[in-house]
Amino acid sequence: MQRILVNGAGGFIGGHMVKRLKSEGYWVRAVDIKDHDFCRPPADEFILGDLRDQRVVEQVVDGIDEVYQFAADMGGAGYIFTGEHDADVMHNSASINLNTLHYGLKAGVKKFFYSSSACMYPEYNQLDPLNPKCSEDSAYPAAPDSEYGWEKLFSERLYLAYMRNYGAQVRIARFHNIFGPNGTWTGGKEKAPAAMCRKVAEAEEGSNIEIWGDGLQTRSFLYIDECIEAVRRLVQSDFTGPVNIGSEEMVTINQLASMVMQIAGKELAIKHIAGPLGVRGRNSDNRLIQEKLGWKPSRSLREGMEKTYQWISTQVYASQSREACSAVLV
Ligand code: NAD
Repeated sequence: MQRILVNGAGGFIGGHMVKRLKSEGYWVRAVDIKDHDFCRPPADEFILGDLRDQRVVEQVVDGIDEVYQFAADMGGAGYIFTGEHDADVMHNSASINLNTLHYGLKAGVKKFFYSSSACMYPEYNQLDPLNPKCSEDSAYPAAPDSEYGWEKLFSERLYLAYMRNYGAQVRIARFHNIFGPNGTWTGGKEKAPAAMCRKVAEAEEGSNIEIWGDGLQTRSFLYIDECIEAVRRLVQSDFTGPVNIGSEEMVTINQLASMVMQIAGKELAIKHIAGPLGVRGRNSDNRLIQEKLGWKPSRSLREGMEKTYQWISTQVYASQSREACSAVLV
């Protein structure tokens, strides 16, 4: 039986991937610097360890056939676009990737999946919100708008260099805004869909929610189950990538907010405030993945947002009840 290591299994996508791999019958070792925030995934082994530490990585890759590398120092716009975390983001994520490849190869790992990001695409192609360009071949000349994006680009190149020089089998995906249940929804690292669901769930009827910028910036969002399916197809194929994994259903952030309000059945006003924004427009371009893997998303954004709102609103009400309960006890 193949033995698989999932780095970052205490996080959103890694946790879902462990569940999927177990359902397919693989033996899975999970590793993360922290436990999963919501439910520990059903791995055969869950190791708490810091992948920046070479000794930890040397241990966790032992006896492993395939690595899924999801671990990264990352978050939404409020984390990666303020500039405050740039040094940590670059140092921590690059160290994890350097260690994973070096010690993984030494231990005989045959295949590495690497989760890159659409944040590596050049800013100059994403200035027009209605017409962003994110085809895989538009990556160069490189000009990401964040250090997070530069680190992703560096690490993509690192995996490809290990493939050329040492024969490592490598698969690289560029994710475009993955969302769904069991993802970060509060605390500063949450991304737009989760933040929107939280704000709407917390808002009183007739009040307002805050949105960073004018809300006319565009994005597309992919539901987690679709992402996991696309990654599995990529890893099982003989296509290296890098390839986009995302949705082509582009919306403005204002439209996303209206969708969540409709799902919640709440009428709220939108208050636009200053905040970290990222590029003006971004959409996945799925022509390459469709050609190579025959994959495209099967469900609408609305369906994914309904499931996500349901999950986040439950989290919000549970945390409000806990707060109310401790207020009574003091
Ligand atoms: P996440 O933050 O939920 O998961 C990342 C996990 O890595 C966290 O659990 C974190 O604790 C762990 N980690 C960080 N530093 C570590 C260390 N030193 N040692 C061990 N574990 C460490 O993020 P996610 O949304 O699940 O993203 C997974 C991957 O996909 C990341 O590489 C991310 O950059 C990439 N990605 C995600 C999205 C998205 O929309 N979610 C978009 C583009 C790319």
